Amino acid sequence: NRSFFQYKLVLLGDSSVGKSSLALRFVRGQFQEFQESTIGAAFMTQSVQCSDGTTVKFEIWDTAGQERYHSLAPMYYRGAHCAVVVYDISDASTFTRAKSWVRELQRQAPPNIIIALAGNKLDLSHSRQVSEEEASAYAAENKLLFVEASAKTDANVKLIFTRVAEAIPKS
Ligand code: GDP
Ligand code: MG
Repeated sequence: NRSFFQYKLVLLGDSSVGKSSLALRFVRGQFQEFQESTIGAAFMTQSVQCSDGTTVKFEIWDTAGQERYHSLAPMYYRGAHCAVVVYDISDASTFTRAKSWVRELQRQAPPNIIIALAGNKLDLSHSRQVSEEEASAYAAENKLLFVEASAKTDANVKLIFTRVAEAIPKS
């Protein structure tokens, strides 16, 4: 039996929701208050251990800010095994946009892709605009994994990636 798996994971979501920040937190344990939108590298890698003893290494693809122009080429998610669609819990318009990314993935991405919905900026819950109930109901209806997290405080960041790793069938 194999014990090591490598998967392509793409980050999607509106500009400024914290995609690069989640990746930077997960991969390097860092957070920057003023993250540059162009920082998105081709990809970063990080591994997680699954409960069945396997190791999953993610090849994380971040954007270099192209999402601002709604022009992410399908090339970006071609061959992706998993996608994390991010919104900002303090900005309802980013949740609307996240739903449209989910629809696009459902139409265009590989059929067995694992999709996680991540509500970021949980530290801003005092100015929350998207309730956890609404987002988790939407996720359940669409068979998405769902986690609320904060790249700033590191709350649940690793959990997003661990849930994805656990959800991928290993055969
Ligand atoms: P991207 O455009 O989706 O890649 O978003 P960035 O990672 O560049 O983040 C946009 C802005 O939101 C930056 O100023 C980040 O410091 C900030 N940010 C990212 N994650 C969080 C978070 O969890 N909480 C708070 N309060 N700010 C965050
Ligand atoms: Mg970015």
